[in-house]
Amino acid sequence: MSSLTSNGPSGVHFRHNTHENKGQIQVIFGPMFSGKTTELLRRIKRYQVAKYRCCVIKYENDKRYDKDDVSTHDMQKAKAISCSNLASIKSKVMSYEVIGVDEGQFFPDTVQFCEDMAKQRKTIIVAALDGDFQRKPFGNIIGLVPLAESVIKLTAVCMNCYGEGSFTKRICGDTQLEVIGGADKYMAACRDCHDNDIVDDEKKILTQQHTKKKVLNSVENLQGYRPKENVVS
Ligand code: ADP
Ligand code: MG
Repeated sequence: MSSLTSNGPSGVHFRHNTHENKGQIQVIFGPMFSGKTTELLRRIKRYQVAKYRCCVIKYENDKRYDKDDVSTHDMQKAKAISCSNLASIKSKVMSYEVIGVDEGQFFPDTVQFCEDMAKQRKTIIVAALDGDFQRKPFGNIIGLVPLAESVIKLTAVCMNCYGEGSFTKRICGDTQLEVIGGADKYMAACRDCHDNDIVDDEKKILTQQHTKKKVLNSVENLQGYRPKENVVS
């Protein structure tokens, strides 16, 4: 029997022996730009190296960077199965041992699906926003916490002050919950910068766009950059 321990967050481990695999749910929370998809793909790649059969599921209305592939903000991509409802692709994913779900907060049935798959002894890894742009729980995704073996919350760089950004701030005027976008519509923000009313102030928007560009440029220039992790449970 061989066993592997990941070099990622504590509590995430697996054995390369499907008979001994009891199934597990791993959750990766954090605001936009915190590296959730990057971390999801890192874990999936590692399971692939360990010869597990892996797949990734993406939300079909998320066509920001690619219609078919899952993509990070810095364009790391992976083939994905698209859907808007996880129950609809259950039979498609039954042959996989490890299932990644990106943007888990958008599916209406993520919590039930994850529990069902873990009961089928699969490893299911979910990347999701824990909170919405108003720092309120995003749908019922927080319901995964008591069901999961491992939960982590990542932080981004606050695009206003360069501190630790734990929240997502919407910088466009739309008010509905599901507004899919990138740096054109959202910024990562710390507690203070999230609360400061910078959306209505034209001058500050310009400064903010400038700061955002600087953050994006400096992040692109950093080799091996990893957002700081903050384990919540
Ligand atoms: P998430 O899935 O959490 O939205 P991704 O994994 O898609 O995040 O993207 C993370 C990448 O985004 C980083 O590696 C970095 O290149 C880029 N990035 C852009 N803005 C920021 C920011 N404010 N903080 C951290 N990373 C950022
Ligand atoms: Mg993502």
